Formats: sequence, C-alpha cells, structure tokens
Amino acid sequence: MRIGIGYDIHRLVEGRPLILGGVNIPFAKGPLGHSDGDVLIHAVCDAILGAIGEEDIGSKFPDTDPEYKDASSCDFLRCVNQIMGEKGFSVHNLDCIVIAEEPRVGPYREEIIDSISSILGVTPNKVNIKAKTSEKMGDIGEGNAIAAQAVVLLAEK
Ligand code: MG
Repeated sequence: MRIGIGYDIHRLVEGRPLILGGVNIPFAKGPLGHSDGDVLIHAVCDAILGAIGEEDIGSKFPDTDPEYKDASSCDFLRCVNQIMGEKGFSVHNLDCIVIAEEPRVGPYREEIIDSISSILGVTPNKVNIKAKTSEKMGDIGEGNAIAAQAVVLLAEK
C-alpha cells in the first residue's frame, strides 16, 4: 500500500470555463491557468504522483510548455494513471475535498465521481468527493479562488 496527498488552488476569473474533475460546471467564473485549471484533477494527480514517489504535476506538465496551453487536465490524469500502472499500482480509494464559496458542487458530485473513476479505471465507489465553503473568509471565501485536496491509497497490483 502507498498513500499520497495532493493540493491545488487557482484564481477564479470571469470568462474562463469552470471544469472540475473533468465536468463542465455552468458558472460566471473559471480558474485562471495555463491548462484548463481543473484544481480537482490537479490535486488528484499530485496525490497519485506523491504516492508513487514521482515529481509533482508542475514538473511533469510545466506551465511554461506551449504543448499544455489550455490542455485538458483529464489528459494529465490519464498520463499519471498510466505511470502508476507501469509502476505496479492501482487506486484502492481516493478521497477529495473541493473548497469553493460558489458554485455548489453537490449537484455535480455523481458526475464528477463517474468522470474521475472512469479515467482511473476503478468503480465509482472507490472515489469520494466532498465540497466545502471557506465560510466567506479569505480569497476562497470572497469567490476569488477555488482549491482542492486529495488523499489516495494505492494497492500493489
Ligand atoms: Mg493547478
């Protein structure tokens, strides 16, 4: 068994799509980022990379590389999933928190779980998503940022 932790935060700005866990969520703002800025997928990637002792997502997919401009973060997770598989591990379970004042993530929870579990090739019951606000405190609480945390447990195949 291997455990890994991941965290990410992005500014929320007008005129960008909000994509969380690969799911497009209707909202007036979206994350500023070189890629699509999917904070949840970025946190999940870092959790898995940490568990298998690899460098973080920023080292694997640099935000200075034009190849990754507006890239779908789902492609990052597919790549990370492949690296994990080649190292002989699979996801035992994944637990995540999305922290945002708005929008409400709850209505999209099942869709996000389906999206992430299908990329990882695991059943949906191995992936859990929780949503929190920041109680109106700080940048997240003022609606200027969105963050995500992920913890993953990997099993040897
Ligand atoms: Mg990021």
